[in-house]
Amino acid sequence: MSFSGIPALNYHAIDDQPMAATRNVSVSLSAFNEQVAWLHSEGYKSVKPQEMRDLLLKKEKLPGKHVLFTFDDGYHSLYTHGLEVLSRYGFTATLFLSTAYIGKAYGLKDFEFVNHDRQLSWDEIRTLSAHGWSIQSHGNNHVKMTSIDIKALEEEVRISKAIIEQNLGTVVDEFAFPYGIYNKNVLDQLKLTGYKFGYSVHSGLLSPSSKRYRLPRIEINNMDTMNTFKTKVTTGYISPENARRSKIRDIIYANASVKDMIEKWTPKFGFGNH
Ligand SMILES: [Zn+2]
Repeated sequence: MSFSGIPALNYHAIDDQPMAATRNVSVSLSAFNEQVAWLHSEGYKSVKPQEMRDLLLKKEKLPGKHVLFTFDDGYHSLYTHGLEVLSRYGFTATLFLSTAYIGKAYGLKDFEFVNHDRQLSWDEIRTLSAHGWSIQSHGNNHVKMTSIDIKALEEEVRISKAIIEQNLGTVVDEFAFPYGIYNKNVLDQLKLTGYKFGYSVHSGLLSPSSKRYRLPRIEINNMDTMNTFKTKVTTGYISPENARRSKIRDIIYANASVKDMIEKWTPKFGFGNH
């Protein structure tokens, strides 16, 4: 089979009390079960952190079908459900953690859709890590990183990395942008602080030609059917129109300064984060 790329799936909470069908980024436990079982039946394996490094740094293609599960924010439901469902099929995941909330409820309005969930505790995070999950940074306070000054930006990327490294004794050099939002300052700060990879929410499959500080991920949300899920996994996009638009965006946004200029002067022309 020829290598077409790796789907990096972007999840948030796994909800065993799904609410009305308003779009949000949690997925129901039953949908998650079905998605993971399908990936296993199709022969997908979790890509290991070292394999990902070889792919992106040495441009080594991976034989076989691989998938990367990523979870943003750090919900308790990953411990109660995510670990069990993924472990059943031998899958692991990368958790991008917002460190300021550990052990607490989320205080931000943006987290209303999971107000019956809370953030993981350190004991739970250690258990995930012991099961092979990679614990990486999603910043400290879950803020829009283009809306804060340079000092606060420096703190967001430095403190979150240091807190995880101190508590787990592991290396943190991957970052996922809260809300998928970034600009050139954010990318520069990641490099200065020792991060090697940045994960966006731009659609597409991950391949050796992906930009290291804005790697593509595909958001999986509660509006996905099994059909849209399969399309996202196999193509990296939700539709051919989304694919066309994203590919144009990737060419224009290849230079982060150009991206910043377009978003500043022509916000309506901007491509959004997906
Ligand atoms: Zn987030």
